[in-house]
Amino acid sequence: MVVAVYPGTFDPVTNGHLDIVVRAARLFDRLIVGIYEESPKNVLFSTGERVEMMSEAVSYLPNVSVQPYSGLTVEFAKRVGARTLVRGLRAISDFELEIQMAHMNRELAPEIEFVLLMTSVNYAFLSSSIVKEVACLGGDISGLVPEGVAVSLRRKYNAVAEHARTRR
Ligand code: ADP
Repeated sequence: MVVAVYPGTFDPVTNGHLDIVVRAARLFDRLIVGIYEESPKNVLFSTGERVEMMSEAVSYLPNVSVQPYSGLTVEFAKRVGARTLVRGLRAISDFELEIQMAHMNRELAPEIEFVLLMTSVNYAFLSSSIVKEVACLGGDISGLVPEGVAVSLRRKYNAVAEHARTRR
């Protein structure tokens, strides 16, 4: 049984992430999507919300599960019995960061391999941050994220706007 972990912040999950999930699920017997709890990024969604959105989006894939984790990604991979970490690659900028992380993780856990899957061209310029920016400004994000995520984003930004209004 070959188990792999696809780790990330997923704040929120986009169709670009899901493209990687679907393709990785074909390569491995079991894929665990690891949702990083203590992201250094300023996250919009709580860990629980990120897990819920991802779980809903991958529920139709029988060999994919979702788990939150904290601490080192390689330690999480070892805990769940995975020897492979999957990451997605978009542009050249991703490559630099990913290669740096792969080398660091190799130092920490040489037995864990990195598999980098290149993004499908439709999603090459899609990121969680751009989706949040467009949603925040009231733009149409359907087609970029699963329907449940679009609903959660609208709800979140309406709540933020409401909060700002009542504080004025
Ligand atoms: P991070 O894990 O760096 O906080 P994300 O949670 O956004 O960032 O992304 C998790 C993984 O998915 C990373 O490997 C990232 O490069 C990849 N990824 C993000 N967006 C896309 C996309 N549109 N297509 C393919 N891979 C992507």
